[in-house]
Amino acid sequence: MTKEQLESYYGLLERFVSLTNDPSILDRDGIVRVLSELCGIFRIAKGVTEIYLSPAHEKSGEGEILCDCDNGHGDVMAMRVRIVAPSMVVLIHTLYQSSESEPLDDEEKARLDVVIRALLGFISRNRLVAVVERLGFYDDSGFPNMRSFTRRIQQMGLAGELGEHTAVCFNLYHFSVINRDIGRENGDVVMKNYTEMIRKAMGENGMLCRMGGDNFVGIFESQNTDAVVALLRGLPVPYDKYKSKRVMVSCSAGVFKIPFGFEFTRPSQVIDSIFTAARVARMLSDERVVFYDDTLMQMKDKDMWVRRLFPGALDNEEFKAFYQPKVDVETGRIVGAEALCRWIQHDKIIPPMDFIPVLEQNTDICILDFHMLGVVCRDIRRWIDEGKSVVRVSVNLSRKHLVDVDLIRHILDIIDRYNVPHEFIEIELTETTTDVEFRDLRRIVDGLQKAGICVSVDDFGMGYSSLNLIRELPWNVLKIDKCFVPLDDENDDGVTSKMFKHVVRMAQDIGLECIAEGIETGKQLEFLEKNHCDIAQGFYFDKPLPVNDFEDRLAMGCYDLKKLSQN
Ligand code: C2E
Ligand code: MG
Ligand code: MG
Repeated sequence: MTKEQLESYYGLLERFVSLTNDPSILDRDGIVRVLSELCGIFRIAKGVTEIYLSPAHEKSGEGEILCDCDNGHGDVMAMRVRIVAPSMVVLIHTLYQSSESEPLDDEEKARLDVVIRALLGFISRNRLVAVVERLGFYDDSGFPNMRSFTRRIQQMGLAGELGEHTAVCFNLYHFSVINRDIGRENGDVVMKNYTEMIRKAMGENGMLCRMGGDNFVGIFESQNTDAVVALLRGLPVPYDKYKSKRVMVSCSAGVFKIPFGFEFTRPSQVIDSIFTAARVARMLSDERVVFYDDTLMQMKDKDMWVRRLFPGALDNEEFKAFYQPKVDVETGRIVGAEALCRWIQHDKIIPPMDFIPVLEQNTDICILDFHMLGVVCRDIRRWIDEGKSVVRVSVNLSRKHLVDVDLIRHILDIIDRYNVPHEFIEIELTETTTDVEFRDLRRIVDGLQKAGICVSVDDFGMGYSSLNLIRELPWNVLKIDKCFVPLDDENDDGVTSKMFKHVVRMAQDIGLECIAEGIETGKQLEFLEKNHCDIAQGFYFDKPLPVNDFEDRLAMGCYDLKKLSQN
């Protein structure tokens, strides 16, 4: 080699080393430039790299072939270098020359060997980085995963770039039903098409990640928020190539518009916010896309507060049973009561809506319900022992109990511990919406019935009531929700009133007792009487009462309907 050739060679070698030193910075163009200059010095016409994941793959010829440079004249093989990387990846580099150029001498071959080995080492290291990246940051279907999302938030946060971006967390609504209706394969197509639309709406710089199943998170520029939210609210998504077959897809979603100047400390600031909003969205039936704001912030604080205080409050007996009488419409006689939970904290009464939804997020609600049943049984036992009059008392059970296979035994254990005759206890359960819940509900209603305990459908008519629910399960009582009873200024000849009338007729025909909830006025009571609904519960008679006040009402036995109507 001439002196000039050697100098350029060393110069290129230096550039090559500096370009490949740090695998996190990949200057592909720079490397290609160095290689083509090298080819010029050594009269190389073509360079080809083969990559095999293992020696076995090499043997069977299953690998990748990359052409690093080619001027179209490489017809003679000049040299070949093979290395096996520590990861067992096999790399082979072959150089070709033109038959018209001078062949490489031994010195040139030795110098090229050094460069090629360095190049192959660099490629294998790069491959390894890519494989690690794939395994750690992507899921099987090629979506970036939650770790990718956290990393992106971290990078953007540290660079001060989160402001004016929107983060989102969403769950495809009832996707299992879609899968069931159109089949899993089509379901996959729907999910792919739908997420593709969302990814497009997020814009070039947006990122959509999959947390698993049908749960996703993403971050994108805030100017695209409306477009993304419109898709989350729902649209028909095609799943055949003619786009003629479509299903409606929508989501429940939590959205956080990150304000300009947002002070970043850690990724969980963003992630917790979208998760909280998404959780609220799942609970709401009318608004399934919820934006994170200060109200939600307070809610989150309240949730934590409830969770933290719950165990201690239970031990301190701060959860009390308040009793609301159930009254015979015709005579005013108290024929039963519903036990409703109140949390008494330093003389302040906290209503159930402030803590039950939080306890229902896990199984704490079941502990509370059993506690309430215990309190009610203890009161009934005392009334019996003191020779007081006793009525049947209903206790609310959350749907969270449905999966408990030993529920009946748990209930009976409590009732029998206080030696309370079963006819004094009634269990209120709300309607269910899914097949699985329906099966569990049947098992529980049957079991309670066999144990001689009354069972009632609570809030009938409020959810998606099904006549099947009434037909197939052996209920004793139907509690008709207050939305079926007309308010005083409403026409009592409307559709709701007519439905009320017929629901009562039907229930009585099949032997169910009927109670109307939420009766607040004399006019509403008259409406019940006119439509032959026998029992009423509501503020017109009394709000849920502390146990002492309720005992006074029990001693009285009967409301004076005439006097009430004059108030
Ligand atoms: P629910 O079982 O349907 O109870 C009836 C609710 O209607 C009670 O609300 C009661 O105070 C209210 N109410 C009664 N009469 C009237 C009226 O004339 N007008 C109006 N506007 N409302 C009336 P409360 O006590 O706030 O309870 C709300 C819900 O919380 C209950 O609805 C029940 O689903 C749940 N809950 C209460 N205690 C428990 C419990 O111990 N366990 C479980 N799992 N849930 C409970
Ligand atoms: Mg109830
Ligand atoms: Mg109710």
